[in-house]
Amino acid sequence: MLIFNLIQTSKIQPMKKFLLSALTLLFAFSMYAQQLPRIIILATGGTIAGTGASADRAGYTAGKIPIDELVGAIPSVKKIAQISGEQISSIGSQDMTIDIWKKLAIRANEIFEKNEADGIVVTHGTDTQEETGYFLDLLVNSDKPVVLTGSMRPATAISADGPKNLYDAITVAASPKAKGKGVIVSFNEGIFDARDVMKMSTTKVNAFYSPNTGPIGQVYDGKVEFYQASMREVNEKTPFSITTDTKLPRVDIVYMYADAPPDMIDMLIAKKVDGIVIAGVGNGNFNKAYMEAVKRAVAAGIIVCRASRTPSGRVVLEDEINDEELGTIVSDDLTPQKARILLMIGLTKTKDRKQLQKYFFTY
Ligand code: GLU
Repeated sequence: MLIFNLIQTSKIQPMKKFLLSALTLLFAFSMYAQQLPRIIILATGGTIAGTGASADRAGYTAGKIPIDELVGAIPSVKKIAQISGEQISSIGSQDMTIDIWKKLAIRANEIFEKNEADGIVVTHGTDTQEETGYFLDLLVNSDKPVVLTGSMRPATAISADGPKNLYDAITVAASPKAKGKGVIVSFNEGIFDARDVMKMSTTKVNAFYSPNTGPIGQVYDGKVEFYQASMREVNEKTPFSITTDTKLPRVDIVYMYADAPPDMIDMLIAKKVDGIVIAGVGNGNFNKAYMEAVKRAVAAGIIVCRASRTPSGRVVLEDEINDEELGTIVSDDLTPQKARILLMIGLTKTKDRKQLQKYFFTY
């Protein structure tokens, strides 16, 4: 400001004065911008990057708009962070793959190891966002925030929610308060732990909620507030890691329903899968036909994990089913889709049933 005053009071020509003042302001702004947190957006596609045929129709093609254009729609974000973007994939998240998960986790770890950013935002379709979030939660080894977001309405829709969700997610990732909170999902002004969150509505903009724990915070009007943290996140760093050579074992999910025949389980035994998660009824329960098929799976050396199709509560070891005798483990409070992820990653370290069960009570 001193330089600015000197220019204004000196006797140089008005044009030169104007140019010098402009340069000084530019310099001051760039110094200020350099102090803003550095956020890298890893874009994967989804509705947030989707375009529809018209503003009044909900139908659209996911993953069409590149990340630079998405950020361009929220110019004021430049006041809160230095942003750069990388396109990891351009898919609807129903097409998410283990290879893309690996790419994301490896790149996120590299960004933090090389100190390329202070936080990461992952833009992602909502269908499998909770799975990607938990995968990264188990494998990204840093205190710095990783924040996932997306949208329920495409960019072309009336009241598109993408720009607001992206702005909020960047705000969260840039906040010092988000440090040490693990991987987070920021959606519709709620902040959720990636481990606990679940997509709860097929179409509504308040699509995400954590049925067992509730949100851990909120972001509103550019302000981030946390009210609680997952104790597992705070207390435990995971023992897991990933490289391009990591081969994730095959784990599948079988849904239980009234009078379900055991054929799916037998098919998976024949396929020689490494693990099976049963999306059981209630407290991870299944019928007699499944019980016999599970015995066959365990005898074939497959790790069988009892989870539940019920969206809240936990599956309790040795409660309705004698796990010790049956040779099964339980998912604790993980949904079947998240139990599958922990079993896949856990199996890269051990095939020991007791150790795998310990993972489920720890992470
Ligand atoms: N099925 C698409 C996806 O998950 C659209 C859902 C969304 O992003 O909201 O990417």
